[in-house]
Amino acid sequence: MTLSSNFADVAGVRVSTDHYINGQRMASPTRFTDISPITGNVIAEVSRGGAAEVNAAVAAAKAAFPAWAALGPHGRLPYLEKLAHIIEDRVPDLATVETTDNGSLHEASRLRVMKRGGHNIHWFAEYAVSLKAPEFATPHRQAYNRVSYNPAGVTALITPWNAPFMLSTWKVGPALAAGNTVVLKPPEWAPLTCSLLADFAHEAGIPAGVLNVVQGIGEEAGDALVKHPDVARISFTGSPETARIIGRNAAANLTPVSFELGGKSPLLVFDDADLDLALFNMLDQYDNCGQVCLAGTRILVQESIADEMLKRMIAGAAKLRQGNPMQAETQVGPLIHPEHLQRVQGFVERAQQDGATLVYGGQVNPALGGLYYEPTLFTNVREDAELWQREVFGPVLIFDTFKDEAEAIRKANATDYGLAAIIFSQDEARANRVAAQMNAGLVWVNCFYVRDLAQPFGGNKSSGIGREGGIWSFDFYCDLKNVAHKVGTFK
Ligand code: NAD
Repeated sequence: MTLSSNFADVAGVRVSTDHYINGQRMASPTRFTDISPITGNVIAEVSRGGAAEVNAAVAAAKAAFPAWAALGPHGRLPYLEKLAHIIEDRVPDLATVETTDNGSLHEASRLRVMKRGGHNIHWFAEYAVSLKAPEFATPHRQAYNRVSYNPAGVTALITPWNAPFMLSTWKVGPALAAGNTVVLKPPEWAPLTCSLLADFAHEAGIPAGVLNVVQGIGEEAGDALVKHPDVARISFTGSPETARIIGRNAAANLTPVSFELGGKSPLLVFDDADLDLALFNMLDQYDNCGQVCLAGTRILVQESIADEMLKRMIAGAAKLRQGNPMQAETQVGPLIHPEHLQRVQGFVERAQQDGATLVYGGQVNPALGGLYYEPTLFTNVREDAELWQREVFGPVLIFDTFKDEAEAIRKANATDYGLAAIIFSQDEARANRVAAQMNAGLVWVNCFYVRDLAQPFGGNKSSGIGREGGIWSFDFYCDLKNVAHKVGTFK
């Protein structure tokens, strides 16, 4: 490793392509290539960290921990508020870099997603200040209990490419607010906005070693990080396949994990629904070219309205404007990477071999080429078929039907995932009955994607372990301690 100043010029924004360890930029002798999905062109050659870089970052985070923890929530608040303000000021640059790096829609990034990054830092810093742990008496033992939330130590935060800045700040915010220090491993297909986050932390005066960013490949830098014995917590967002590997590696040190994983969520439309609202949200599942963990990728419509809704869905999909995500009018951008395109194509080919009916899309957009895969819709997908059971993480949706409430509930729950469920019905009693039966961590009724940092966020079954958000973030990022003392024993 050498001290470095390697940079990429990303659409006019200067971004370091090196690690950020102990308050300094460090370069690795080997690098990995980062391409833009918009053009397929190389935009950066990024330092490729491994065990040496991870060891240095964890050592820095361990050394910085006692002083950062000792500041307490009030002492940390000004640093985190400053970081949040810098993020808010740099939203335009963040949006430009993230869109260039991962192909997500620039307009959405600029207006909403990047702002959420600043909010993630600010909200948890204030929450930590107001956090009250319980106190209670144990009368039959004449004792009194005081619970406290204590920072756990060095946290390893590992994030995916579909919303790297927002998802990273959603972990960095509570981890730092709780008094931990951080080693962040960004995704190798979209590593650049996390590098900007390191610059902003530096500018905010956050002490050296409190936030470290190690760039690299999952199987190298990520692997070394989760196996490190000085890591006190691992918070991971990504695929269930990777989570299983991380879980096995974390088990060696009994390191607690929080897993936010994939989904194959149902979107249920009952015949009493506001059908325009339902249709709008059905089409919204193509957002970010389907690269959204929460997406309702199995659209289940009541039989009596199914023909009409299928026709409207196909007509709506045909009208979606696919193109360069930098342009404000674009509604569907590209897939992230050629390897991911191959994966999506594989799912579509196998679904057809499996007997499913392709009713829309199913190919790279002929007018655009590259990574611009068309919004795609299948009917006649069997419940035991791969397409029903596995997450594609692309713009490939299933349209299916149900007779009645019982069948809707059964089909909705008929996967190994349990992240979200989306219900459209104007009958409140029915919506509540169905919501109660969903095996999912998040249920939306007549809406989609309503997110509040106070909510518990996470999934059941293969969609995750644990919840983050609100108090649940502090339950995860802290060691809880109960002190019981005998009443009347102090002078
Ligand atoms: P991924 O599992 O391939 O990679 C995620 C991260 O893990 C990357 O930073 C990667 O470098 C790292 N990684 C890979 N192998 C590793 C290993 N052996 N040890 C340690 N780290 C390793 O996932 P992805 O393709 O980047 O993202 C897509 C997945 O993420 C989808 O399944 C999607 O549903 C899920 N996701 C979930 C949420 C959520 O909040 N539930 C949000 C966004 C994405």
